[in-house]
Amino acid sequence: GGVRAGLYTDTDQVAILTPDNVDAVLFNSSYATLVEFYASWCGHCVAFSPSWKLLALDIKEWRLAVQLAAIDCAAESNIKVCMRFSIRGYPSLKFIPAFSRDDFMGEEIRDFSRNVTKLRHLIIDKLESHKSPGPPACPPLEKTSTREIDSYVENSRIQNQNLALVFEEEKSYVGREVILDLLQYVNITVRRVLSSEEELVSRLGVTDFPSVYLFNTHTNFSRLKVLREARVFYSFALQSLPGVVRQGKSANASDLIRNEMEEQWRPFNKTRVYMSDLESALHYSLRVEIASHSVISGTQLTALRRYISVLNKYFPGRPPVKNAVKAVNDWLQVQKGTSINYSDFRAILDTTSTDSYLPKVVRWVGCQGSKQHFRGYPCAVWTLFHTLTVQALETGSSDPQEVLQVMRQYVRRFFGCRPCADHFENMAAENVDQVLSVSSAALWLWSRHNLVNSRLAGELSEDPHFPKVQWPPPDLCVSCHSLKSSGEHTWVINEVLTFLSNYYSPQHLLHDYLS
Ligand code: FAD
Repeated sequence: GGVRAGLYTDTDQVAILTPDNVDAVLFNSSYATLVEFYASWCGHCVAFSPSWKLLALDIKEWRLAVQLAAIDCAAESNIKVCMRFSIRGYPSLKFIPAFSRDDFMGEEIRDFSRNVTKLRHLIIDKLESHKSPGPPACPPLEKTSTREIDSYVENSRIQNQNLALVFEEEKSYVGREVILDLLQYVNITVRRVLSSEEELVSRLGVTDFPSVYLFNTHTNFSRLKVLREARVFYSFALQSLPGVVRQGKSANASDLIRNEMEEQWRPFNKTRVYMSDLESALHYSLRVEIASHSVISGTQLTALRRYISVLNKYFPGRPPVKNAVKAVNDWLQVQKGTSINYSDFRAILDTTSTDSYLPKVVRWVGCQGSKQHFRGYPCAVWTLFHTLTVQALETGSSDPQEVLQVMRQYVRRFFGCRPCADHFENMAAENVDQVLSVSSAALWLWSRHNLVNSRLAGELSEDPHFPKVQWPPPDLCVSCHSLKSSGEHTWVINEVLTFLSNYYSPQHLLHDYLS
């Protein structure tokens, strides 16, 4: 399994401090850190930890400027570190500015809230009052003025550059949140303008606070169209503007001309699921991934039997593909020994007739990547299991654990990406057994997949043409998103379920490109 330390695991976005890494993480670093000192036996700490995890996810995009860390002072090996910071009560929070020296004991934060919004605002206040030098990656957070904007335009520093202005009341944090949300993106600058900046406000005719304007020249500007005037919607819309990409990712559309690829690009609809991806996933899983085990026995054989049996029940395939799966399932049922040879399994799978076959092709469509090493199989594995959870729901299954446990065991015993398997097992071990209905099962997989997306956003493995987003984004499902009275983003779970059920429904699968 993965690293587990006290209340946090390495799948949270929280840096887990140990005597070995504490100096490297906290001192003389280019970002500021907010550290939670806790004891795993302390009830308040247990109650606080969900907020800390949520906050870490929420400000993940800010990590070049500020990060969250945590250390378990109840672990004997950490006691010296906690003493060095004179920690007496738990949980304690300390802010360590960027470029701090290693004799600095941190600024204690007193009377902090458990509320994620308040904690986030506290971090912004800390960044704004950060002494010089601040984190180099932190963009200016202060309000801008008409004069500054005009000289900006005159110096034509914004040629080819989007300038987004967030108009807001002085007390609002939305502008600064959006500025930080975009901090890893290039070809865009975001600034906040206060409602009291009358000249600019009247020049653009701004009447709503907050609202966002894209500003090109003195006379050329437009209001950013969003579904709701709120942080998540602004950030998503700005990150999706043409030419705006994450640092280090090419914005060049000619990337898609894949002369290095032996295959032609297949145009596809990004809002749909393709049968070709599902069949290719099955082919790859059954003929390549599992093939690396010449003898299959024990827990591995159990995992395989259950996998095939669930496929037989729920794979919404074309009739011949369903027949091929059924043949393998029937064969597996009558194998009474404690092990099977892969070659025997394979022989059954490859016994084809006109009404029973699984095509021997890998043809990614919705899962195509802009480069060979992007997307493909792992994308199709997610797609396959989402489809199976939805199909279980649609056919009225009464076992909420069935598909999830099959996925868990398949990933654990066969999935070739071992770090993925460890992470997935950690997530499953945490709470999959609390899933009590078939609809919750579909939602559990949805929410875990979003956790993975959040963790992987901006990583090298992210295809620049298919950025990892919290899914479904507002342009795919408006009604899935809402705002709490606090202004905080929230998912409308019933709408998400409806959306998932439609999106992964067998009736909506596209059959293009099938052999
Ligand atoms: P994917 O994340 O593969 O998603 C495929 C498609 O599913 C998307 O295009 C979208 O249409 C849809 N989708 C996206 N989010 C959701 C959602 N929340 N609910 C429903 N549908 C959604 N890679 C790592 O580097 N490290 C890991 O630890 C890791 N763990 C993994 C664990 C598992 C079980 C799997 C199957 C994959 C894992 N991967 C991991 C691979 C990674 O998650 C992606 O599959 C891969 O990077 C390809 O990404 P993608 O852009 O094609 O989208």
